Amino acid sequence: MARRDRQVEIEEVRMRRFLIAANWKMYGSLAMAHEFAESFDQSVDLGADVVLFPPAVYLSAVQGWTSEFVQVGIQDIGAALQGAHTGEIAASMVKDLGGSWVIVGHSERRTDQGESNELVARKFASAVAAGLRPIVCVGESLEQRNAGDAFAVVSNQLKAVIDLCGVTGLQQGAIAYEPLWAIGTGLTATPDQAGQMHAAIRNLLVGFDQDVAQLVRIIYGGSVNPENAGLLFAQEDIDGALVGGASLKASSFAAVVAAI
Ligand code: PEP
Repeated sequence: MARRDRQVEIEEVRMRRFLIAANWKMYGSLAMAHEFAESFDQSVDLGADVVLFPPAVYLSAVQGWTSEFVQVGIQDIGAALQGAHTGEIAASMVKDLGGSWVIVGHSERRTDQGESNELVARKFASAVAAGLRPIVCVGESLEQRNAGDAFAVVSNQLKAVIDLCGVTGLQQGAIAYEPLWAIGTGLTATPDQAGQMHAAIRNLLVGFDQDVAQLVRIIYGGSVNPENAGLLFAQEDIDGALVGGASLKASSFAAVVAAI
């Protein structure tokens, strides 16, 4: 089947459009970003919302190198809308530069910068207020999973956002389920493990609002690569991926996108 027909078919049977995001973390350079943009084929609709998250200082350049089929954002924002917060970037500034998405609550920030569920929720709210689409990351550590607490951890992280923004606020963005033990480790959650948590998250949302639960995209992150992406995307409640290591090269990121 031609690629275009296949995309139309995917969109007809799926209520939610795939979302595939590249988190470059603190890797790369301006030259790497340019090389990526030149070699990543962005001449057609890729059948998914494709979003690049370069380091913030490269946002403007990367925005200038992307086509209408690729969106850009940054990996974090300040919680305040404006003010005396040295070093912080406001959501409105991301908008100014043509960014449309932001990641909030990535586990590396929760761990390295001690970001609490409440702070992450405030960042989510600021992003929505500025018209950005936030991806909130949630996920448990291996100890929490082994103790049987994985869902409790994830639901507390999500409830903090729902408490502040309402469940309809969540619909402005997306959720990334990223078990900490799978990030950057090469250990991917099995499609069943990931699928079960995604279904549990959707079921949690059903308790708040049936429509929002069906519409919100829940993407998976944790050592996604071209080899495992297809099986993950075949899970009913997995609506895409937040890709770290495998997004640094255009060819491997393109292969992940093609796996939809
Ligand atoms: C991430 O950066 O959110 C991530 C999931 O990284 P990796 O794909 O390298 O595990």
